[in-house]
Amino acid sequence: MSDPRISGIGMTSQRTRARMQERLRSQGITSEEVLAVMGSIPRHIFVDEALSSRAYEDTALPIGFGQTISNPYTVARMTEILFAEGALNKVLEVGTGCGYQSAVLSKMAKEVYSVERIAPLMAKARKHFHELRITNVRLKHTDGGMGLPEVAPFEGIIVTAAATHVPRELLQQLAPGGRLVIPVGAREQRLVLIEHTGTEYRETTLEAVKFVPLLGGVI
Ligand code: SAH
Repeated sequence: MSDPRISGIGMTSQRTRARMQERLRSQGITSEEVLAVMGSIPRHIFVDEALSSRAYEDTALPIGFGQTISNPYTVARMTEILFAEGALNKVLEVGTGCGYQSAVLSKMAKEVYSVERIAPLMAKARKHFHELRITNVRLKHTDGGMGLPEVAPFEGIIVTAAATHVPRELLQQLAPGGRLVIPVGAREQRLVLIEHTGTEYRETTLEAVKFVPLLGGVI
């Protein structure tokens, strides 16, 4: 990463990423793999240049079209929950946005599929993957509430927009042994983990989160 815009300087430098890692650790993130991956990905290239000095703060930031890049803690926590039982080959993300979470997943899973309903955001994400030479994320412009049946089953599914309920289609696309992490709720949202044991879906409700809503249709 010799391009200084990508590697960053000052508030976007490797030192800033190291400080973010330490903050995530103090907030309770324990997965060394997640911490290492988030320490290596230049988060600032996923936001507009005017916001890049704030990219490593513990906050969600606007990415256009009324959407946000999730705060670092939430990305770390959801990734840690998804991979808590070990490696996953094929993962689906619903809600690509600017692609930061997908970039994190790309370093941990063999193949990542990510779907987004807003075409210009998907185009931004594609540009970011190109800049970072990420080649194992496949993007599709579609309503992810239906999942991605043509590619299913997935060992992991992560939804990065809040659903009112767990879509049945996503459960059906989860491989036996697979894990689904999804924020559920409207004003008050909680992360929900669903583990497909092979015979049943085991549901665990976790901490409170704040996401933009999962919406239907594409634009
Ligand atoms: N994963 C992103 C979070 C982006 S915000 C990150 O790393 O920061 C959530 C995204 O979900 C938005 O871009 C929104 O357009 C998208 N979204 C909402 N409902 C969707 C749906 N039904 N299908 C696909 N994408 C959806």
